[in-house]
Amino acid sequence: MSKFWSDMAKRCTPYIPGEQINRANVIKLNTNENPYGPSPKVIQAIQKESEQTLNLYPSPTTDKLREVIAALNSLSKENVFVGNGSDEVLAFSFMAFFDSNKAIRYPAISYSFYPVYAKLFGIPAEEIALQDDFTIPIEDFYQSDGGVIFPNPNAPTSIYMEIDTVKKILDNNPEQVVIVDEAYIDFAAESAVSLINSYENLLVIQTMSKSRSLAGLRVGFALGHPNLIEGLTRIKDSVNSYTVDRLAIAGAEAAMADVSYFNETTEKIIRTREWTIVEMEKRGFTVLPSQTNFIFATHPNKDAGELYTALKEKDILIRYFKVPMIDNHVRVTIGTDEQMAQFFKMLDTIL
Ligand code: PMP
Repeated sequence: MSKFWSDMAKRCTPYIPGEQINRANVIKLNTNENPYGPSPKVIQAIQKESEQTLNLYPSPTTDKLREVIAALNSLSKENVFVGNGSDEVLAFSFMAFFDSNKAIRYPAISYSFYPVYAKLFGIPAEEIALQDDFTIPIEDFYQSDGGVIFPNPNAPTSIYMEIDTVKKILDNNPEQVVIVDEAYIDFAAESAVSLINSYENLLVIQTMSKSRSLAGLRVGFALGHPNLIEGLTRIKDSVNSYTVDRLAIAGAEAAMADVSYFNETTEKIIRTREWTIVEMEKRGFTVLPSQTNFIFATHPNKDAGELYTALKEKDILIRYFKVPMIDNHVRVTIGTDEQMAQFFKMLDTIL
């Protein structure tokens, strides 16, 4: 703490990102990255862009990328906002749609950046406890004062909420913005994007970090009514005209265009997830129903922290949670079949 810090700098509690170990032999199953790497067309597009135009500022409006994203979602570019990872889009959304005199609601447990933003921007928050089966208590999100935000599927529980349920939350918050954070939606059932033309209060946020395997490039986007997109653009243009750089724009356009690579790798991850769940259950774990690229599990007589440490000694990185309600859980990102086989080989030496 320094006397030179503003009140904002004093009151915020920064988010701590996931552990990074960049040794080649480490199997990284801790931050829900995609094990397959991006489409080869992404690499070509980035190379081409880097040879030609790095002396020039990128597009401040990201028009072409927004058009590509809009077309894939049967929307128009006025429905699309692009940012530097969905974390930035989330931060701008808190600034654009939530106020300091009205409490917002989000589930506890969910993405741990939400309380960070709420504190940073001085937005009061009501944390709604999950139910005993780790699902979200829907009616507790009705008639919020200042708006609602939740991930779907939820993180870190991996549980998906049906689209009709999302609709009920929207219907019961007609004067508030409802943000559905769909970071993992491509591994799940149906996106709330289909509701955008019916609900002017719905903002859907997605990322290229997971299903498009571009966590390192930092591209996320929001989809919603043009009035909401205009609000986000106002905030962005008051902070930084160029939050998405040229290489990110080129790579993201190529990633969105390569639908067959996306389908192939996403389906592979889902198939690996399904056998991983079976293998975890065989070893005595209880695994929550996952519609994401990770699983959330607990073992009746193994300590999650000890499992984490023992696996780390064997060069496998996972995450564990010890907070109220999820007091002994591990979260394991779905890797390739080979990585998961190695994970189980090492796990069997510990159990
Ligand atoms: N929302 C949720 C629920 C997440 O788990 C993550 C990734 N940790 C993000 C948003 C942010 O993703 P990114 O900034 O990489 O787009």
